[in-house]
Amino acid sequence: MSKIRTRIAPSPTGDPHVGTAYIALFNKVFAESQGGEFILRIEDTDQARSTAESEQAILDSLRWLGLNWVEGPDVGGPHGPYRQSERRDIYQKYAQQLIDQGHAFHCFCTAERLDEVREQQRAAGEDIGYDGHCMHLDPSDVAKRIAAGEEHVVRMKVPQEGVCTIHDELRDTVEIDWKQIDMQVLMKSDGLPTYHLASVVDDHLMEISHIMRGEEWISSTPKQIALYQYFGWDVPTYVHLPLLRNADKSKLSKRKNPTSVTYYRELGILPEALLNFLGMMGWTMPDGEEVFSLEQMKAKFSVERISLGGPVFDQEKLNWLNGKY
Ligand code: GLU
Ligand code: ZN
Repeated sequence: MSKIRTRIAPSPTGDPHVGTAYIALFNKVFAESQGGEFILRIEDTDQARSTAESEQAILDSLRWLGLNWVEGPDVGGPHGPYRQSERRDIYQKYAQQLIDQGHAFHCFCTAERLDEVREQQRAAGEDIGYDGHCMHLDPSDVAKRIAAGEEHVVRMKVPQEGVCTIHDELRDTVEIDWKQIDMQVLMKSDGLPTYHLASVVDDHLMEISHIMRGEEWISSTPKQIALYQYFGWDVPTYVHLPLLRNADKSKLSKRKNPTSVTYYRELGILPEALLNFLGMMGWTMPDGEEVFSLEQMKAKFSVERISLGGPVFDQEKLNWLNGKY
């Protein structure tokens, strides 16, 4: 069997979120408990929202927690992370490959036109997304419009019938109708990729074997599976982890709980306690101990023991644990 490799791929668009630390913990523990490797990739292709401060804060908080990663270009320290903004040529090459093979196409639709289509669909009670308007343009016309500098994006085609089957290690098979899947933009007009293209290309090139991420990404998975199939690449194993929740079971939010790792750090919470707390929310030790270290978690880890029951972020429990260290 090939090596187990996992990753987290945070977008540097805000405070270092406890949800990122939680996902990082499980990726690291799983990979390293199997003799595998955990890597870090910064998904900074949204230039308007990504900031250097946010990236630095994410790196600092992961290092503070002891969630170290391996490899990457030599930036930002001995194991600098990968940065998608430094990999544009790679995505461009693969987008071109999809176009050449007929799996993607140039789209010149203006925002106004797309709004109109959306309005019409809404009025008709439909939600089919992009209507395929530019799918069959004459190639020489396309070349001329591009040469003339007309603004455009690249969109992926999606299968028009059947269902996409997602195998997830933690859940029953998930089936999603291809008809519900939009013809996603892959390359934006600024020449940068969207999340879907960049993450599939990177996960493949970085030899990621298992994708462990929050369950909010399940609905994106069909687009990614379609891309793996277009490229002829193996689909990695998916493990969609349950989201952290507020006490009322809503998705963990700033309004109900501070969500920044920096906040807890400045409050005097110890990194061991915060890690233990995050581990305890998504996982139970086989013999039920509540106080455990990263190393102890690694020694006993198995994916099957991840609990799907909506982990509740309870600060009293965190304070209690902090007292144990
Ligand atoms: N950039 C995404 C995030 O911020 C990555 C999602 C994934 O793991 O595929 O969570
Ligand atoms: Zn179009």
